Amino acid sequence: MSAKLQWIQDELQNLEESGLYNRIRTLSSPQGAWLEVDGQRVLNFCSNNYLGLANHPRLVEAARQAVAEYGVGPAAVRTIAGTMDLHLELEKRLAAFKGVEAAVTFQSGFNANVGCIPALVGRGDVIFSDELNHASIIDGARLSRAQIVRFEHCDVEDLKRNLSEKRGEFNRALVITDGVFSMDGDVAPLDEIYEVTKDYDAVLMVDDAHGEGVLGTGGRGIVDHYGLHGKVDVEIGTLSKAFGVVGGIVSGDPLIVEWLNQRGRPFLFSSAMTVPDVAACLAAVDILEESTELVDKLWQNTHYFKEQMRILGFDTGLSTTPITPVMLGEAPLAQQFSRELFEAGVFAMSIGFPTVPRGKARIRVMISAAHEREDLDQGLMAFTSVGKKLGVIS
Ligand SMILES: *Cc1c(COP(=O)(O)O)cnc(C)c1O
Repeated sequence: MSAKLQWIQDELQNLEESGLYNRIRTLSSPQGAWLEVDGQRVLNFCSNNYLGLANHPRLVEAARQAVAEYGVGPAAVRTIAGTMDLHLELEKRLAAFKGVEAAVTFQSGFNANVGCIPALVGRGDVIFSDELNHASIIDGARLSRAQIVRFEHCDVEDLKRNLSEKRGEFNRALVITDGVFSMDGDVAPLDEIYEVTKDYDAVLMVDDAHGEGVLGTGGRGIVDHYGLHGKVDVEIGTLSKAFGVVGGIVSGDPLIVEWLNQRGRPFLFSSAMTVPDVAACLAAVDILEESTELVDKLWQNTHYFKEQMRILGFDTGLSTTPITPVMLGEAPLAQQFSRELFEAGVFAMSIGFPTVPRGKARIRVMISAAHEREDLDQGLMAFTSVGKKLGVIS
C-alpha cells in the first residue's frame, strides 16, 4: 500500500471499530421474497422491491422481447445519437400514470435530482430543503451553487419562518422535500408544505422515490395521496424501487421537461436508460394501470407486520409506510441483531451513521407484496427469538 493512502486504511479501521463498516452480501438468486445469499436461503427484508416486480415474468418477458428488437444499449447520449421511440413511449406513459403533462427519464433517481436541481436554481437563488432529505437531493443542491437553507424535518412552521425571513434576499427559490423518508418511513406533510410555499413565489419539488407504486390510488404516488394534482411543480421519481428496474424520472410542467432536455447535465452527458430497462418499466406501468392488486397486498402486508411487531414490543418509530425501522439505538447492537437474524434465516440490514443519526441505529425491514403471510410469520418468529436473546424485548 502506498503511504499516500494510509489515511484510507485508518478511516476504514475507524468504521470497523464503530460498527459502521458495510459488509455487502452476495446474492446468487433473483430478487423476491426469498433469496440465496452467501449460499443460504433467507427471507428478504431488505429490498425496495415493494411490488415484487424486480423478477416479475411480464417485466422479464418485455425486456427479452425489446432486446430482440432494439438490442441492448442506447449507444450515446440522446441529444447526439437520437432517442429511441421506446424511451419517449415510457415518458408518455409515466406522465399519464402520474396525472401530469410531461416526464423525462434519467439513468437513476440519483441522477434525476443531480440533473434537475441545478437546472432550476443557481447562484443568487435559494433552496429550502428538509434536513433529512436524501443524499441525491443534497448533492444536487450543492452542485447548483444556490444558497441552501435547511428546515427542520417535516416542520411546516420552520419552513414558513425561513421563507418569510430569507426568501426576499434571493432571486429564484426552490422548496424540496422527500415524499416518504427512506430511513424512518414517515410521509412529508406535502399538503401543508404546498399551502406555505404558494405565497412565496417558490417552485415546489417532491422526491417521491419511496412513494411511487406505494402511496396514492394504485400507487400513483404522494401527489395523488394528498390530491395535489397540478399544485406540485416538479416530481422526482425512481424506477428502481416499486417499479423493480432502474432509472429516474422528472415529471411535471412540459416546460421543465423541455428545459431538462436542454440543460439537465446527466441527460446531456450520460447515456440513457438501456433498452431492457425501458421495456421492463413499460410492462410495470401496464401492470399498475391494470389493477391495484399488488399495491393492496403491499399495504395488507405492511399493516399486518407492523401491528405484530408492536404487539411483540418493538419500537417501529414514526413510520406510516411499508418502510419499518426497528429502533435499536447503538450501531453495534443493530449489527449484532442483523447477524443473528441472518443466522435465523432472515436478511434484514442494520443501518447506522451516517445514513441515520448516531444513537439511532436500527434494522430496517422492507415489506413487499412479494411476501406471503407465512413469510411474514416466519420473519416475526425470528425477530421474537433474536429480540429476546439480545434483551430488546421481554
Ligand atoms: C432511492 C432514492 C433515490 C435514488 O434512486 P435511484 O434510482 O436508486 O438512484 C433518490 N431519492 C430518494 C428519496 C430515494 O429514496
